[in-house]
Amino acid sequence: MKDEETEEQNKEGETKDPGSISAAHDKKEEDHSDKKIVDSPAEDEESAAKGSDGTDCNTKMDFRTLSVFRGSCSLKNVTIISDLRANLSEELHKRKEDVWIVQEESGIIYNDDTTFVEFLKHQKHIEVMIGNDRRSVSEEYGSTDPVLDAITNKFGPSQKCRMSCNHLTEPENLLNYMKENIRAGNAVVKCPKCQASWEMEELIAKSDMSEDEQIFYKKAMSIIKQTVKKYNTYS
Ligand SMILES: [Zn+2]
Repeated sequence: MKDEETEEQNKEGETKDPGSISAAHDKKEEDHSDKKIVDSPAEDEESAAKGSDGTDCNTKMDFRTLSVFRGSCSLKNVTIISDLRANLSEELHKRKEDVWIVQEESGIIYNDDTTFVEFLKHQKHIEVMIGNDRRSVSEEYGSTDPVLDAITNKFGPSQKCRMSCNHLTEPENLLNYMKENIRAGNAVVKCPKCQASWEMEELIAKSDMSEDEQIFYKKAMSIIKQTVKKYNTYS
């Protein structure tokens, strides 16, 4: 078993082709020549990230939120995406849980444990999706009795929003469920209780999406739908 594992690792090491990623990346650069890092080329960022050990590092990288805002963010102590979210949260005066690192054109939400070095292979600047820090419930459920949340499957006393299929949930739970569906590549978001389809308009309204979230999720969903359509055409 141990030998097999070692063999597998070796094989992986041999077949890895870092050239293909950078080639694709170079091509992307040509298409988006307006996207540039301010202070230093990617190589410097990379070595700065590798050597991140808490020492002072003034390197900065351009970011843009999906709707309007542009700026630059400190890369101090950034080793993984979670660190970058923390720095951006400080820069933008937003809660970290409302700051997400994404790639808009591919509909990707970067995972917290993705290394910054890996991130730099795909991004020349940071794309940020800012969430809504005050999500309101579009239709309040009047009862004070505990009600079942269709997504978490837990009873809770808090106010719920009623979905078109009549099941109840909360805006934040709905949005997390949306993220899961995007990551899983599901073209249709369905109620986990009754399998009724929830349309994008409903998801936007009931989870009270911010402008950034609307831009990102609409795009991500259209990419998934196109991919599924293409696949169905070929098969
Ligand atoms: Zn339902």
